[in-house]
Amino acid sequence: MSSPFTQAPHDLLVIPGPIEVADSVLYANAHPSMSHVSKDFIPVFGDCIRMTREVLYAGKDTQPFLISGSGTLGWDQVAANLVEDGEEALVLHSGYFGDSFADCLETYRAKVTQLKAPVGRAVSLVDLEKALLQKKQEGKSYKVVTFTHVDTSTAVLSDAKGIAETVRRISPESLVIADAVCSVASEEIRFDDWGLDVVLTASQKGLGTPPGLSILVASARAINVFKTRKTPPSSYYASWKKWLPIMNAYESGSPAYFATPPVNLLYAYNASLRIITAKRSASTAAEPSEVVVSLEQRFALHKSASQKIKETAAQLGIKQLPLDNSEAANGMTALYYPEGLGAADVIPRLAQRGIVVAGGLHAEIKDKYFRIGHMGLTVVDGQRADVDRVVDSLKEVIAEARAQKGL
Ligand SMILES: *Cc1c(COP(=O)(O)O)cnc(C)c1O
Repeated sequence: MSSPFTQAPHDLLVIPGPIEVADSVLYANAHPSMSHVSKDFIPVFGDCIRMTREVLYAGKDTQPFLISGSGTLGWDQVAANLVEDGEEALVLHSGYFGDSFADCLETYRAKVTQLKAPVGRAVSLVDLEKALLQKKQEGKSYKVVTFTHVDTSTAVLSDAKGIAETVRRISPESLVIADAVCSVASEEIRFDDWGLDVVLTASQKGLGTPPGLSILVASARAINVFKTRKTPPSSYYASWKKWLPIMNAYESGSPAYFATPPVNLLYAYNASLRIITAKRSASTAAEPSEVVVSLEQRFALHKSASQKIKETAAQLGIKQLPLDNSEAANGMTALYYPEGLGAADVIPRLAQRGIVVAGGLHAEIKDKYFRIGHMGLTVVDGQRADVDRVVDSLKEVIAEARAQKGL
């Protein structure tokens, strides 16, 4: 569908989600209202399911769930469907979102152990290995091991492949769960090759769609664990017992109903997935904003945009929150305010230049840093020059603030 629609001029949204959305995606969201069981809508939903697998290099035996809700609903799905009363969960903590996932698991009566990294670091594989071995020595094992792929509060990137490999080796019966809300489509994720069991995300971050969709992919192993539960799922709305037949029906081309899907949002998600999976050829791309690149190119573009922003920060004498460059996310950057400056010196000045960034989120250091998102359209479409605009504005703003304070 070509887009006869261009969005109104607006401030550049460079927070770690929601992110800038393509005109064609917003236009798809404006699709006339459709029955959720109509024959025209069914393949739109089905294609969303299929293309979600592609973004994660996930095979046919994996099961996507696309459910109205935000990223948080993914935690509820894991807790309600894969963990039973009193079973143990190991949560790898690299920031704010580890605490929240743990809180959610406990809400469903899981027994949670958190393995916490220092602020700015990911949990080391050595510490993970120790924790898993210790549990083995107790004659027990964790039902699930969760980690935050990119913790949005710290911009710390965890080694998803290494974590999965370590769990598979030492505790093969444990399910490996990635909170990848802030990494899907901006960081490479090889679902099958790495041996992941759940990747959960949301529509509004790297997937470049308005908020409102919980997106989760489960391995065949995870589905089997679900199917052999001793007790029923501990949620009504989040129950895979309800959703599994729905996802299977839409994928196989027939309608089904449990709870009304977000029809228009699925049109929008479909439009964004067509861009991300490069299903839309350059010749059919409607807008200059609809640059079509392969998934591999997409990840490379995130890396180079990220480097550009991080190098600029370093030149300005600004420290990054991640303590090790190999653990710094490619879709966002977290920066401490430089010596003598604070939020009031930086964020409003960027806003004056039409750039919206995010403040701090990690409780211990909330007021000491800010965050820039650089995902999706902003990094893939060079013509927009969003990254240059962010870099140039950051330089101006820091110079101006320093001059004003006589620094
Ligand atoms: C944004 C985010 C969430 C929560 O997603 P919502 O859509 O706000 O519910 C969870 N985990 C991570 C890592 C996130 O970045």
